[in-house]
Amino acid sequence: MQYLSEFTRCNLCEWRCGTNRLEGEHGVCRAGMPHIAYTMLSKTLHSYAVTMLGCSFRCIYCNAYRISQYPDANWFYRGYVAPDALAAEAMSKMLPDTDKISFTGGEPTINMPYIEEVVREMRERYPDIGVGIATNGFCTPKTLRRVADISTSISYEIKAYDDDVHRMLTGAPSGPVLRNARSLAEVARDEIRVFRTVVIPGITEHQITKIASFIADLDPSIPYRLIGFRPNFILYYHPGPGQDMMEDLTEQCRGIGLTDVAWSGYYPQGVPASTSSSGGGGGDDDEGSDGEAEVAAQYLRRAGCSKDPRSCGDCELVDQCPACLLEPWG
Ligand code: SF4
Ligand code: SF4
Repeated sequence: MQYLSEFTRCNLCEWRCGTNRLEGEHGVCRAGMPHIAYTMLSKTLHSYAVTMLGCSFRCIYCNAYRISQYPDANWFYRGYVAPDALAAEAMSKMLPDTDKISFTGGEPTINMPYIEEVVREMRERYPDIGVGIATNGFCTPKTLRRVADISTSISYEIKAYDDDVHRMLTGAPSGPVLRNARSLAEVARDEIRVFRTVVIPGITEHQITKIASFIADLDPSIPYRLIGFRPNFILYYHPGPGQDMMEDLTEQCRGIGLTDVAWSGYYPQGVPASTSSSGGGGGDDDEGSDGEAEVAAQYLRRAGCSKDPRSCGDCELVDQCPACLLEPWG
């Protein structure tokens, strides 16, 4: 199983921790062998979707934290499936409804050699199989080239623009994500399906226009999708954005020059003025990132993480992170 050799000294993401994932060592992603949460034929997305476990981030609002924080969250999933078995299974179920397989997570690029092996098996029989990858963009440039080489469709999440906000949200710096977004726009523009950001009142709402300006500078035709935050994980008691905020931010992104902007999801109750730094309407005042990072930091401190700046890759608590929800039977 040649494709596993990279996991004996893993440098697939920007943490570049060099751990031997096959010998029980763990990086931030906590991953060992590539493990699958579940698979699903999505007729809506016209894709056979493979959800993979583990993530290079520890996002405080993750709506799939049992998957991203696996195995720490003590939930049970399918586990390792050999690439040829997964390829055969996918082909038996996806055709004729779809000719595309997509990988999501968690963060699928922490398992890039495995994904390449699955796709290689499938393309031996069906050379035109489409491949979708949804990523947080925190891979190394080398891994990013592999993502671009194999994919026909890439969904790319930019969680925040300012480094301090990005760190508080994810535990990782924003620099590599922005660098990789720029590279993708330059070398794989046609494969970019969307860039997207989750709108969190008081935490990312002032990040949206900064990200929109960044994308407009790359290519204003790149589709940008704003996703309304749904209370989850460590932000379980933080309100989501109202419809007004989503519409207002969308208009602001268009005003910046993006030609393909849309939003989805909103919170049915109004956002308390104390939460939204713009009073619920997105606002165009230049709120500093300090305020947004501090709101996130307050939740983190209550959850047991007081590392500031937050950086999970060099945190002494990474093997016993307190900022995680454990299932009661775990
Ligand atoms: S954190 Fe990154 S470099 Fe470290 S084991 Fe996970 S994927 Fe590999
Ligand atoms: S305690 Fe350490 S590993 Fe846990 S969230 Fe904070 S910085 Fe990351």
